[in-house]
Amino acid sequence: MITLALSKGRIFDETLPLLAAAGIEVLEDPEKSRKLILPTNQPDVRVVLVRASDVPTYVEYGGADLGVTGKDVLIEHGANQDGSFGSVGLYQPLDLQIAKCHMAVAVPAGFDYPSAVRQGSRITVATKYTAMARQFFAEKGVHVDLIKLYGSMELAPLTGLADAIVDLVSTGKTLKANHLLEVEHIMDISSHLVVNQAALKLKTAPIRRIIDTFAAAITTV
Ligand code: ATP
Ligand code: MG
Repeated sequence: MITLALSKGRIFDETLPLLAAAGIEVLEDPEKSRKLILPTNQPDVRVVLVRASDVPTYVEYGGADLGVTGKDVLIEHGANQDGSFGSVGLYQPLDLQIAKCHMAVAVPAGFDYPSAVRQGSRITVATKYTAMARQFFAEKGVHVDLIKLYGSMELAPLTGLADAIVDLVSTGKTLKANHLLEVEHIMDISSHLVVNQAALKLKTAPIRRIIDTFAAAITTV
C-alpha cells in the first residue's frame, strides 16, 4: 500500500492533475465526504487528508509514504530550536510548482514601516510563521517582538495587537480588503513533494514511479 498525505483545498485540487498523470484517480470528493482515508482507482494507493501543517509530520514518521505541502510549512516544520533550518529525514525531491504564493510583510496604511526600520524601532509582528519571520528580520537587523497566531493575521494590526504581519499573499485581495499594504516580499512559496526516506527504500519502484510521473507533469508557468 502507498499512502499519500494531502490537505483539503488548493493543495488537494492542484495535486489531482498530477495524480491523473500517474493514472491515479481519487474516488471520493473530500468536500462532500467525511472520510479521512480516500480510496483511489488503484487498490494499492490511498490518500489521507490531514491539516496542511501536519503533512510533514505524517510523512516524517511514516503515517504516509508521500505528501504534498507548502514550502512555508516545510520551513516552519524544519526550523530547529536554535533558529537554524535543518531538514528532518524528509526527502524533498520535487518543487511541484502548485499552490503558488509568496510570504510577505504587511502593515496598515498608517504605519510608517521604512521609518521604523531606519530608526531601529522595535516592531511588533503577528504571524503564524514565527521561524520564517524571526530569520527574515534577524538577517535584516530589525528588532521584532513576535506574536504567534494561528489564523486571521490581518486582524492583528487593525486591533492594535501588532504593527505588522508576516503572512502568505497570493492575489493581495485579502490585504486590500483589510487596508494593509505589502512592504516586504520575503520569499516565493510553492508546494513540494515530500517522501519518507524508509518508504523510498522499501517500496522503491512504486514511489519512484510516482516521483517520475509527477516530475514529467509539472507545468512551469
Ligand atoms: P489550515 O486551514 O489547516 O489552518 P492553512 O490555512 O495553512 O491550514 P490552506 O489555506 O489550505 O491551509 O493552505 C495550504 C497551503 O497553500 C499553504 O501552506 C501555502 O503553501 C499554500 N497557499 C497558496 N496560496 C495561499 C494563500 N493565499 N493563503 C494561504 N496559503 C496559501
Ligand atoms: Mg485554511
